[in-house]
Amino acid sequence: MPDTIFRTRTAPSPTGYLHLGTARTVLFAKLFASINDGIFYFRLEDTDRNRLQPEAARNLVQALDNLGLTADEGVCIYKESLGRDSFYGISQRGKFGPYIQSERKSLHQEHAQKMVDQGIAYWNYLTSDEKNELQAIKQATKQPINYYKTCLERFGNQIYVDVQTGLNDPRKPLLMHKLQRDEIITCVDELLGETKFDLKLEEDYGLLKSDGYPTYHLAHIIDDYLMQTSLVIRSQEWYPSFPKHYTLFMDYLKFVPKYIHIPFVLGEQGNKKMSKRDGNVNIQDYLDQGFLEEAIINYLAFLGFNPGTDKEMYL
Ligand code: GLU
Repeated sequence: MPDTIFRTRTAPSPTGYLHLGTARTVLFAKLFASINDGIFYFRLEDTDRNRLQPEAARNLVQALDNLGLTADEGVCIYKESLGRDSFYGISQRGKFGPYIQSERKSLHQEHAQKMVDQGIAYWNYLTSDEKNELQAIKQATKQPINYYKTCLERFGNQIYVDVQTGLNDPRKPLLMHKLQRDEIITCVDELLGETKFDLKLEEDYGLLKSDGYPTYHLAHIIDDYLMQTSLVIRSQEWYPSFPKHYTLFMDYLKFVPKYIHIPFVLGEQGNKKMSKRDGNVNIQDYLDQGFLEEAIINYLAFLGFNPGTDKEMYL
């Protein structure tokens, strides 16, 4: 994969306002791009159609702009564009577009097809009742579910039908990654170091849903690859999924970009992610209250970090 220019990104889902923790991750991503003379781009991850709030898309872009954390490329408010998206009221710029993930649906399906062809992915036709039965067995035996074996036994060759056939099937099957296997992998996080994961203990998971949209797992792998991302900086909530992503990258693309999982901004008790209960976590509210963007950036930079001096302002 070409790796001449350092590229990193933010990839929020339009499900709500700009959370303080996301803004801090964006700040770090932008700083990484800047110290590496690279590009920081914005990709909108809107493939979960049930959680989608259309107005959130524009609000996220606007809040980052207001904070001075505008992306160099990707989804933007004005500027030259690949065409204005009237659904969200935002535009896009850059040569790796579209940057609105739902516009890449057919591309994701093409890659899903290649994964089926290569035996990396298969269709799971189990009904919810059958899945619940497997969950109950899992509770009793404390063993992870082996979806692949179950599906192969029950559905035979149907697990490898092509993507269009699977999507048209009235049973609404889920395309899954064949992840569970007898292998121990070592995932490297640039911040947290190496962790070994036993893939025997992992369960296969969804790549393509019956509505034809990819899950986050499939979509971010394909898009981070095609958009030539050198470093994925994201919240630690994705760390448990790291073995899934690492393995899917290796199985399909024989390469893994660098990853950094950023710890949560914790609430006052220090044991949970900061939430509305601990105080204001909506960045736009701080701006609306008149806090200067420099002060907010300064605050974000110091969440979870201290240079060891009493100096509190770095403007
Ligand atoms: N859409 C994901 C989220 O909002 C993005 C995670 C990532 O940066 O890869 O949590």
